[in-house]
Amino acid sequence: MTPTDSKPKSHRADAVNIIRRLQSARFQAVLAGGCVRDQLLGRESSDFDVATNATPKEVATLFPQAQKVGAAFGVMLVRVGSSQVEVATFRTDGNYADGRRPETVTFATMQGDAARRDFTINGMYFDPLADDGSGQLIDLVGGQADLAARLIRCIGSAEARFAEDHLRLLRAGRFAARLGFGIETETLAAMVRCGPQLIRIAPERIADELRRMLTPTSRVEAWNLLVGTGLVGVMFRGPVRPEPISDALGRLSTSMDFGVALALVGLSTLASPTMDGTEVKVARGHLRQWLRLSNEELDTAERCWLTLAQWFGTNRPPPSVFHRDVVALGGTAGTGEVVDLTLARQRATQWLNALTAWPALAPRSEELCARLAGLSHDALAPRPLLDGLRLMELGVPQGRWLGDLLRGAYDRQLDGDLLTSKEAENWAVAQFSAKG
Ligand code: ATP
Ligand code: MG
Repeated sequence: MTPTDSKPKSHRADAVNIIRRLQSARFQAVLAGGCVRDQLLGRESSDFDVATNATPKEVATLFPQAQKVGAAFGVMLVRVGSSQVEVATFRTDGNYADGRRPETVTFATMQGDAARRDFTINGMYFDPLADDGSGQLIDLVGGQADLAARLIRCIGSAEARFAEDHLRLLRAGRFAARLGFGIETETLAAMVRCGPQLIRIAPERIADELRRMLTPTSRVEAWNLLVGTGLVGVMFRGPVRPEPISDALGRLSTSMDFGVALALVGLSTLASPTMDGTEVKVARGHLRQWLRLSNEELDTAERCWLTLAQWFGTNRPPPSVFHRDVVALGGTAGTGEVVDLTLARQRATQWLNALTAWPALAPRSEELCARLAGLSHDALAPRPLLDGLRLMELGVPQGRWLGDLLRGAYDRQLDGDLLTSKEAENWAVAQFSAKG
């Protein structure tokens, strides 16, 4: 489970059942926040949150199975059907000392609860049982008008809201990018002014927001916003290079995951596109420190960087390098597992397409794309001329030596220096007797 998926899933019908139960016990209870926004937009919601004037204790009395997730923040987790629904008591947040979490919360009215939410479009409620079950929207913050105008606007003073919780800087960018909304003038100006405060946010929280922003459908918009507001510079601790990164992101296919998008982003911000191995290590260290990315994500980014560095370095990659790199994109090569050559080709072509966004890299990208297109599966990953069994028959003992010889023979085969099994055998035997 990635951090982004950590929130329990809930279904609308289950949330509505909880609301019915709370209302029967004479409490106020409504759907709140994101699911109301999504409903008005006609979009599907991934979770349905309930807000109520019942205290966590009262929620626990009605739902004995309820779990305290953040009882201190007034949030209870109620399991019903296949859902886990967050039931949150109306509250106002106290002081934000750390720029992220309120130190205290005070239970409040619905009005107070709406005022602590981040953006107007996220600050609405919906009573699904009102008006004989047709439901009623409760908009105390002007969310409907901003939805219609397609605007992200802070509730209250934007500057104050970003100052108390800096993560809202990224949330604003995420919602704008994901929904294709603009950011209201005051809110945008406050984002720029408050941007440097982002540095106080825990790296893993920043990364989590980045993961949500760099999704295929929103990454170009999100990146432009991050650059435009100066947040990229804060996140990556320095000025952003003028490379056409958003163009490159736009050329990635929708199947390209976060790791690859991040690799491109890192490429533009942390190093030159033709970086060397040392630069890559430094960039990796920075990403680990600033964003605490998982090893898997860092590995993907690093593999992408190193591969591209090989292909775009000053030396033209020989076929052995290029073929092996491409094949590796399709799965785990070299371990005897079957790799998906079609997938490998698609990925390599995607990378190369993305890199055509850099004028300096475009000619080489196009050349490599054409080279790849001209290779049959068989030419890309031919059957080895030599195998381990044959080498052992020829007297090479099992062990590292054998592996090295097989690899060396295969590289020479890919480079066209060895053309037949006999030639490969002769080469390997000569190597073995020279070293042995
Ligand atoms: P998503 O569809 O991405 O889950 P969401 O609007 O549901 O979007 P959540 O992070 O799930 O976002 O939060 C639920 C609601 O809680 C928001 O709609 C908003 O009203 C409120 N909220 C969440 N995070 C903050 C925050 N940092 N500051 C103020 N209000 C917040
Ligand atoms: Mg949500």
